[in-house]
Amino acid sequence: MSNLLKESKSGWENITDESKTVICKFSDEYIEFLNKSKTEREIVANATEIAKQNGFKEINEYSELHPGDKVYYVNRGKNLYMAVIGNKDIEEGINIIGAHADSPRLDLKPSPLYEQKELAYFNTHYYGGIKKYQWTTIPLAIHGVIVKPSGEKIQVSIGENENEPVFVITDLLPHLGREQAQKKLSEAIEGENLDLLIGSIPDSEEDKKCKEKVKKNIMKILNQKYGITEEDFASSELEVVPAFKARTLGLDESMVAGYGQDDKVCVYASLRAILEVQNPERTAICLFSDKEEIGSMGNTGMQSNVFDTFVSELLNKLMVNRPNLLDKVFCNSRMLSADVDAAVDPLYASVSDPTNDGVLGHGISINKYTGSGGKYNASDANAEYVALIRRIFNENNIKYQFSELGKVDAGGGGTIAYILANKGVDVIDCGVPVLSMHSPYEVTSKTDIYNGYNAYKAFFNN
Ligand code: MN
Ligand code: MN
Repeated sequence: MSNLLKESKSGWENITDESKTVICKFSDEYIEFLNKSKTEREIVANATEIAKQNGFKEINEYSELHPGDKVYYVNRGKNLYMAVIGNKDIEEGINIIGAHADSPRLDLKPSPLYEQKELAYFNTHYYGGIKKYQWTTIPLAIHGVIVKPSGEKIQVSIGENENEPVFVITDLLPHLGREQAQKKLSEAIEGENLDLLIGSIPDSEEDKKCKEKVKKNIMKILNQKYGITEEDFASSELEVVPAFKARTLGLDESMVAGYGQDDKVCVYASLRAILEVQNPERTAICLFSDKEEIGSMGNTGMQSNVFDTFVSELLNKLMVNRPNLLDKVFCNSRMLSADVDAAVDPLYASVSDPTNDGVLGHGISINKYTGSGGKYNASDANAEYVALIRRIFNENNIKYQFSELGKVDAGGGGTIAYILANKGVDVIDCGVPVLSMHSPYEVTSKTDIYNGYNAYKAFFNN
């Protein structure tokens, strides 16, 4: 028997020039998407635009749905569901792929602006699991919205174009960093010190009462540019993200480096996959959730009932709905939780189990379960379902690998998998391996990205 022992090989091995060209072209398109989509709102807006160009219509444009119809629904600009209606009775279940559009970042506080020593700052509250020291002394941009009480919404993006300024969080010089260098990595940079340097020119107006002239000058600039006052920050969502662009990495140009690949790489691969789904047997749904990095809470997170409402609406418009049908549909449904996996980092190999880790370039990673400390909080996919996924991937020549998130007791994590599993859906985590996950510059392999896209396509069509 030649296949008695399992083998894991690089996706680049024995690759033809032709396939390499196809893989790199796909990644170039991904990089372009990544550079336009740094926040969940931008992801949802850009993905919706692409969906519309590919024949998807807003669900309210349909009074009745029929096989082959393509619909989408945008939840509060941060959360997107897309569906292609299948030929089979929807009661037999849906094929769902779910990725998340949010990424770790720094959010401006409700009263962010302050001045000290004639320097103006924006105070931030970090979002998601970050290593704080990674966010100092790198160019940062501000993206988001400010909504005035009138309802007027102002779109903000500063720091992306060459002619725009960037921002930075300063760090102590090594000469005076002796005490800081003795601190634990997690304590050397404090969360409260992750403040953005934004200005240094005092306002020139004669005003003896004003003690914060740099702050006032900044507010004047913002008022001129956006028509806002200091109070308007309270109803804003301004996110601080790395200002640098995603790019090809390596002399052999085999990888992608960029911010927010967790989980925009799975967003892009699954988006491209559903665009190619035509008249599927089972109804296909691709969804991008929000707030995954902070526990999937709130009405744009996966834990909200908005997704159930969307599926109920499909049932209504298919004219098949009846009491409890939604529960039944979920129990017959399958899902790939499309979230990135930690690739083993050879520089930090001690946290991985060498026979159960994901390797960069060796294909899409399947995690039967995540969780931490004795599978705690894990959604553990049933063996029968894992076998089905293996069959689909084998039949479609998908390069995949099974992995676990690090050594037992080394740490752990979770995804949106359990939320759908709790509804009765068969779910397994299946995503692109990443190096330096949650850092401002994450690394993926172009061959894994392309495999992810093919894997998601195969899943939708089976
Ligand atoms: Mn994450
Ligand atoms: Mn993730």
